[in-house]
Parts: sequence; C-alpha cells; structure tokens
Amino acid sequence: MKTNILSFKNFVGKKVEAIGWIAHFRKHSKVGFIDLYDRTSHIQIVLDGDLLKNDYNLEDLVSIKGVIKKRSTQTVNSEQDLGNIELMATKITTLSKCSDLPFNINRSTLTIRESLRLRYRYLDLRTERMRKNIITRAKIAKSLRSFFDKKGFLEIETPALTKGTPEGAREYLVPSRLHPGKGYVLPQSPQQFKQLLMVAGIEKYYQLARCFRDEDSRKDRQPEFTQFDIETSFFNQKEIIALTESAVSSMVRDVFPFLRLPRGKFPVYTYDYVMKKYNSDKPDIRKNQNDPTELAFCWVVDFPMFEIDPTRHKISAVHHPFTRPLINNIKDLDKPEKDLLKIKASAYDLVLNGHEVAGGSLRISDIKLQHKVFEILGLQEKEIKTRFGHMLKAFKFSPPPHGGIALGFDRLVAILCGESSIREVIAFPKTGEARDLLMNAPSKMTSKALKILNLKKTK
Ligand code: ASP
Repeated sequence: MKTNILSFKNFVGKKVEAIGWIAHFRKHSKVGFIDLYDRTSHIQIVLDGDLLKNDYNLEDLVSIKGVIKKRSTQTVNSEQDLGNIELMATKITTLSKCSDLPFNINRSTLTIRESLRLRYRYLDLRTERMRKNIITRAKIAKSLRSFFDKKGFLEIETPALTKGTPEGAREYLVPSRLHPGKGYVLPQSPQQFKQLLMVAGIEKYYQLARCFRDEDSRKDRQPEFTQFDIETSFFNQKEIIALTESAVSSMVRDVFPFLRLPRGKFPVYTYDYVMKKYNSDKPDIRKNQNDPTELAFCWVVDFPMFEIDPTRHKISAVHHPFTRPLINNIKDLDKPEKDLLKIKASAYDLVLNGHEVAGGSLRISDIKLQHKVFEILGLQEKEIKTRFGHMLKAFKFSPPPHGGIALGFDRLVAILCGESSIREVIAFPKTGEARDLLMNAPSKMTSKALKILNLKKTK
C-alpha cells in the first residue's frame, strides 16, 4: 500500500517513498523540481546530481524515494497544503508511462472542448478542480447520510427494473428477454416504492437514488441523475421542511464551512407570492449575486395541484399524481376544469440562489381521493387499474399518512462547488444529447442482440 502524499506533512526528517503522477518538471543547471501529485495532495520534489540526467515526462507515474525536509522560509508556498516541506529525492523509478496527452491537465479544463474532455474523462478527472468536485460530492453524500442515519432513517434500495413512475418525462424501456413482448421501465424516481415502504411500516426512508428520464436534449439535464430521496410517515409539511432544512444546513456547515447560510430559518413563500413578486417559482433572493459565499435558500409552498400541459394541451399534475391537495381544497376536486387549476397542493420546493434544489409533497393515502385525482388527470378506469392498481390496492391495508421530498443531488453539489453545470460534478456524465462519449453509448444494437430480445428493426 502506498502512503498518501498529504500525510508527508507529519514525516519531516524521515525517509519516505512518494508515489504519484508528475504535474510539472523544471530543470535548472544544478537542481530540478518535480511537482508530484496523488489523490490527496501535491508535493515539491527536489532532485540533483545524477537524477538530473534523466528527463521526466508529464503525467508519468513514478516512485520517488528520499527524505522530507522543511523548506527555507523564502521558498514556503502558503497556498499549498504541503507548501512548507519538500522531498529531497535519492531514487526515482518510473512505474507507468503516459502517452501524449490530448489536452493539458495541469490546470482547469473548463476552457477545453467538452466533447474532448468527456472522451478522455479519466484524464479530465485527474485535474485538481475535477478531483476536488468528485471528492466534495462524496463528502456531501456522506454528511447527508450520516444526518439521516442519526435521525433513525434507513437507506433502502428500490428497484431499477420496474414499471415506471410518472414524473412528467418520457421513460426508458428495457425489453424483457424472458417475457417476449414485455418490458421494464427505468424509474423516473423511487416515488411509488418509497410510498409503498411507508405502507410497509418503515416510517423513515432515504436513498441516494439514481433516476432516469428520457428527455429531449436539454442543456443541463442528464438522462440519469441522482436524487437524495426521503420519505416519512407521520410528519406534517412543516416537519418535513424543518427536517430537510436542518439536514442541508448541517451538511453545508460540515463540508463548506466558508459558505454563508442564511441567519435563522429559511424564508417560506407561497407560490402565488413569488410568481407575483419575482415572476418565477425559483426566486433568486441573494443580496449580492456576485458574492460566491452567499447561499440564499428559500422554500416555495402551496403550488397549484394541476396545470394545463402545454405540449399535450390537457390537465396534468404539477408535482406528480400522488400529491395531496391542501386539506380545505379537497372539496373543490368536483368543480369544473377551470376551477381545478386554482386548487393548491401540499407541495413544496427548496430553492437555492435561483435554482430548484429539492421538491416534495404530502401524499394521498386515501383510495377514493387517489382515484379521483387519476380521473381528473384523464386516466380511464382500465388504465388506472393497469398502471396504478398496485398503489390503490396497497392503500387498502391501513396506510399511514406520509410525505417526502427529493433533493436534486447533482444540482445541489454543483451550486455548492461553484460550478455552473451538473456535468462538472458527475464522474461520467453524458452530453446534452444523452451520449456517453467515453464508452460510446448508445451504440448500435446487433441483430443477434435484437433477436434474443425478440425485437425487430423497422425503418
Ligand atoms: N419523486 C419526487 C420527484 O422526483 C420527489 C418527491 O415528491 O418526493 O420530484
């Protein structure tokens, strides 16, 4: 096992072996310097004598033996973790050679053509900025998980091969080999399963969940993305909001101590208020949009229950069909369509600096009410039964009142890392056109594969 470069700060005066990649090499007449890095940090290597006779290639993986020394006061670099020490090399061995690089990776690659970066993502991920983003992402997940673990929540995995949950996008289909003519759907979210877990008496669930939505190319959307998904029984809306707020605040304090959270509670605005005041349901309420340390969170509540879907010209759910109307609006479900659009739902969004970073709702757990909502959404009896019969059936078995929320994990990480695209915080993202340029997916389906799946190509 190798010793991490960062731990050399405790090894002054000791003999060590540093293993890492060469970020820089510069040679003067009597002395040379290598900037060596690994996942944890960078260290300056000093070499002289015979060691200077060799050339050192950028990004070669090397083992360097030597002694850790304190740097002289004039050469201390206070911007680096290990800026006050250096390694005086006695032996350098190349462990693995690096070919010519397709682009420079010893600085941020933000200005490099994205398709090239994605094709060589493993090199892109070697850059300090990208490595930091990926490490920070893992820290955020860890902090949120530990918050919910401490509160008695269970992380439970829900299936990826399933029947689909409507969240307003097209679904990915997976043809079944064992059941010709049938197929699975990849979930747009774990919505139905997490509600069924509440019927199962789990009470407190969370999951770092992968979601799949087959959307037309949209700049900063991904066909697969991650939600930090939460569901609880017996919590009212205020309690879910308070829980989420405290999870997010404690994560920010943990991972981003230098960012400024709002003082006191996050403000809560109604949908009608923000639409009137900001003409947006994701208001950016920062005092100074140029201050990168300001985090302006707010809640938007009381969303409309229904809207007219602009593409299909028919009534659809603003959040999803399992969302409950506000209690005193339930009676209005019998009114004509134009009045239905006035009904408000127990649905809430968390907004950060003008971006939606979470959305959730209290759910319907009453069969009649759920049935009514499906009807309003234009579903015929047969369709209700085939698509959602299992939910209605489950609600026959003493379901608890429940509700939840899902954090858009990629977006939250991107904003906190100061990145403008979620692709900067996903290890292997797809392009805006849903292509994986590294693996080259989607790829052609061979006739053999199609035959096994009982599929035929048409023109
Ligand atoms: N499933 C919802 C979504 O994906 C979140 C929720 O209602 O908890 O937006």
